[in-house]
Amino acid sequence: MRMALEHAVAEKGTDPAQTPIGAVIVRDGVLLARGVNLTEEHHDPTAHAEVVAMRAAGEATGEMRFEGATLYTTLQPCGMCTMASIWAGISRIVYGAGRDDVHEMYFEDRHLSTLDFVADAWKDDLTLVGGVLARECAQLYFGPHDAVPEEMQGND
Ligand SMILES: [Zn+2]
Repeated sequence: MRMALEHAVAEKGTDPAQTPIGAVIVRDGVLLARGVNLTEEHHDPTAHAEVVAMRAAGEATGEMRFEGATLYTTLQPCGMCTMASIWAGISRIVYGAGRDDVHEMYFEDRHLSTLDFVADAWKDDLTLVGGVLARECAQLYFGPHDAVPEEMQGND
């Protein structure tokens, strides 16, 4: 998680307006790939840090499934990234700041979350751990009660 945090800050700084979300994928103690949120930079709504890391892991390994790998991400994954993790066969998701630690703009669904998607997945060997370095991670994002301009909220 420390590595994901440092990558986020190194690439995007600490201003929440830059959405410094970082993700790393590790398997057998080896770093497979890293990623940061690049939606604005790539004009790509799917370029979340986790997806960017998965694409990089695919490039690095020539594989499209990462069984035995752990995805570390500084913010609780959205539905898209949770589902992508399931499709990628990732074995463990570890996230920093949780949904309640940040503004609702980071999530697309009013009620369903990573926890629901993982609990309901056909894949039954996926472990989910949240809240690792949560406070440090949450400092990079808008808080639950921050007044975020409407145009900055992509989930509306
Ligand atoms: Zn996502």
